[in-house]
Amino acid sequence: MNKNMLGSRERPSTYLNLPYYLHTYLGQLPDPPLSPKTNQPIGPEALAPLFPMELVKQEVSLEKEIPIPDEVRQLYTMFRPSPLLRAKRLEKALDTPAHIYFKYEGVSPVGSHKLNTALAQAYYNKKEGIRALTTETGAGQWGSALALACRMFGLSCHVFMVKGSYEQKPYRRTVMKLYGATVTPSPSDTTHAGRAFLKHFPDTRGSLGMAISEAIEMAVTKPHTHYALGSVLNHVMLHQTIIGQEAMRQMEKEGEYPDVVIGCCGGGSNLAGIAFPFLAQKLSGRVKHLRVVAVEPTACPSLTRGVYRYDSGDTAGMTPLLKMYTMGSDFIPSSIHAGGLRYHGDSPLVSFLYHKKRIEAAAYDQLDVFAAAKVFAQNEGIIPAPESAHAVKHAIVEAIRAKEEGKKKVILFNMSGHGLLDLEGYEQYMEGKLKRE
Ligand SMILES: *Cc1c(COP(=O)(O)O)cnc(C)c1O
Repeated sequence: MNKNMLGSRERPSTYLNLPYYLHTYLGQLPDPPLSPKTNQPIGPEALAPLFPMELVKQEVSLEKEIPIPDEVRQLYTMFRPSPLLRAKRLEKALDTPAHIYFKYEGVSPVGSHKLNTALAQAYYNKKEGIRALTTETGAGQWGSALALACRMFGLSCHVFMVKGSYEQKPYRRTVMKLYGATVTPSPSDTTHAGRAFLKHFPDTRGSLGMAISEAIEMAVTKPHTHYALGSVLNHVMLHQTIIGQEAMRQMEKEGEYPDVVIGCCGGGSNLAGIAFPFLAQKLSGRVKHLRVVAVEPTACPSLTRGVYRYDSGDTAGMTPLLKMYTMGSDFIPSSIHAGGLRYHGDSPLVSFLYHKKRIEAAAYDQLDVFAAAKVFAQNEGIIPAPESAHAVKHAIVEAIRAKEEGKKKVILFNMSGHGLLDLEGYEQYMEGKLKRE
């Protein structure tokens, strides 16, 4: 038996709310969302047509922790606690004194961390009488997570899938349909927003920003229907903190504490999930030397190359304006295989932490990322999702640096998902068909 297994009493019973720590120990919070119409801070009523009250409250909560509902904890036992593994063969291959640990979220039935928040969101919606959820998906991970969560709680689910991925990643489409969701390639002619995008950009392969506009429009125009977002918002970061809380307890059983915590960063949720519990300890002065690194693709470098400003979360300008690092809401990144990292912006919480220099960021080209994923797979067996492979790449960079500096360093990264439905990207990489951006 793995010595870091968590008994049922050791499993987290609450989500950790980072804004409490920012407010208490920094005396600062990120700037609030603004109405796109008035440019004034929005109140809860602005979010009520889209989200259940419980999630709206979580969005602005300054509580230290929020209980995980029993029904959700029950469902988490399908795949949680997820394993914390040490990549010993990789350490040996790199000949590094560093210890490399990773939290493996690929064990969830849908293959990524996204089910952590999907189950919570479906639960709160069901409890408030909602019958259907709409959403967008890029590579399909979020869509499959929400489709399964909706199935678990008896909700129907409509997913707008970025057209490029709909064509490039047919298997996740199948997964969503198998769970009972309706899947529409976006932009589509089923919404006003979609028809407008098609008119202006007839050849577009879509973007997350466009798909969000379509999903929101459907949610506000259909009765008993809400919208669900798989990343970016505070309540999503909150739900993902189950990852880092487990990891912290598992690391404790290993007798280790990370020097550096790494996560790939699309909207920021898996990074927040693994890192926020550790950052909370740092903010409250319980640890001194902890670094956190967000890793993004050079094809969509919102933290490393974007601007920190208010921007819309979608292309049609329907969402509240969020203060975040952004490439601009009309930015359409090239079709890299890490579809989950193609969002133009970033979570306001993650952006705030980066702006305040509480976390670092790095960006890599997908060729280097696939090369790192191959080394990882050949040593550890697990095939990383192309998104997660960005974290793998940076973990290797840190491990090599540790060797050069002759330092023992404890590295923890989040393996946000497996890549078994992304083999086409790997195939193209091995055939030498991928180009440097
Ligand atoms: C969606 C996804 C991501 C990116 O989203 P974040 O909110 O930044 O975590 C990363 N990895 C995997 C496997 C994903 O499915």
